[in-house]
Amino acid sequence: MPLYEYACTGCGHRFEVLQRMGAPSQGVSCPKCDGAKVVKQLSTFASAGNVVGSSASLPCGAPSAASCGSGGFS
Ligand SMILES: [Zn+2]
Repeated sequence: MPLYEYACTGCGHRFEVLQRMGAPSQGVSCPKCDGAKVVKQLSTFASAGNVVGSSASLPCGAPSAASCGSGGFS
């Protein structure tokens, strides 16, 4: 059974809950303040939304890509 990390939005307390895979976060309450507003945290900090910079450093495709394309043709 995987261990899920939750963060309480009420008091900021972080706790872990053993849950089955795919179990809903409903019913999970903060053990500290007994608040039901808890947010499931992703244990793996992949931060998939942070892809800033990958598009800015494109080797080709830029308007001033003089080094791109020239040399491939002969
Ligand atoms: Zn709490």
